[in-house]
Amino acid sequence: MNRRSFLKNIICMGAGAAFLPGLWPQKQAEAAWNTARDGVRQDSKLGVPIRETDLQFRSLENRTTTDGIVIHHIGGTNRDVSAEEVHQWHLNNGWSGIGYHFLIRKDGTIERGRPMDMLGAHCYQHNWHTIGVNVVGNFMEAVPTSAQMKSAARLLAALCRFYGITPDRNHIKGHREYNSTDCPGRSLYNMLDGLVADAAELY
Ligand SMILES: [Zn+2]
Repeated sequence: MNRRSFLKNIICMGAGAAFLPGLWPQKQAEAAWNTARDGVRQDSKLGVPIRETDLQFRSLENRTTTDGIVIHHIGGTNRDVSAEEVHQWHLNNGWSGIGYHFLIRKDGTIERGRPMDMLGAHCYQHNWHTIGVNVVGNFMEAVPTSAQMKSAARLLAALCRFYGITPDRNHIKGHREYNSTDCPGRSLYNMLDGLVADAAELY
């Protein structure tokens, strides 16, 4: 490389730096992440950080029995949807509001859906005795993030402790084990044994 083309490259690099994709967008991404973390508080019953949502439900019924947890995915889209967005979908279905009790976002943030002592709307014929946890994504195509799997294990362990549920595969099931559905997607379903083992270790 002669001096002239060397200088030319330096100048191009200099010009490029001004428009370098990633510098400013990364800051924006951080800001968005911090915004998404707003409202995260340690839940006094469960002892895990949960992003509180301010969802208004049409009507809710108490759940008197809790002896199981059902794992779901969003399906349909692999977008990092929020509890607020799913709440709106389920209201549009004519339901009382979001049917899941918890959502686990791609960055591992646990979000509050339906209050955990209320009857959910997530698993036909099994809402009366179960908590619904949705790991956000479409796991027929994608795989959960490691942050999601870590948070899921923490949440499952905390729920099992709180409700006195044995953290095993008899009590923690994928939606497809109860109903005819792909949910929670192939990859998450295949990771369920490991997830429950991780939860049992934290328990
Ligand atoms: Zn499901």
